Amino acid sequence: MISTAPAIADIPLPIDQWTQPFWSAACRCELVMPCCADCGTWRWPPGPFCPHCLSQAIAWQLAGPARLYSFAIVHRPGPTPADSPQAIVPGLVEFPEAGGMRIAAAIIDSKIDRIAIGSALSVRWVPKDETNVPMFVVV
Ligand SMILES: [Zn+2]
Repeated sequence: MISTAPAIADIPLPIDQWTQPFWSAACRCELVMPCCADCGTWRWPPGPFCPHCLSQAIAWQLAGPARLYSFAIVHRPGPTPADSPQAIVPGLVEFPEAGGMRIAAAIIDSKIDRIAIGSALSVRWVPKDETNVPMFVVV
């Protein structure tokens, strides 16, 4: 069984003044994370102040390689009774070179028996609205 992308058409993206740089980079298929421009502490979720030094200066940097920190397998029936069952795999994706920051994202197009904690992942961009949503495939 292969993991399926969840339906995201009706889910609004969490775009605000703090996350806009993330979505602007996603539009270019770049996965970036906020880092304090003064002390270098990675900051997720994005917000007005660094949790370490309270600076408001942010440097958005490429997140680097991704690996699977945690996941669940959600089995569900196919769209019609004639279709095969599907597996949706929500995961916590970790970026070791970005201070261990983690985002929630779907693990898609991957064999269920190959999905494991610590799996190396590559990003797959899924178009939505004016940008792209990061989902991940087991390498
Ligand atoms: Zn700081």
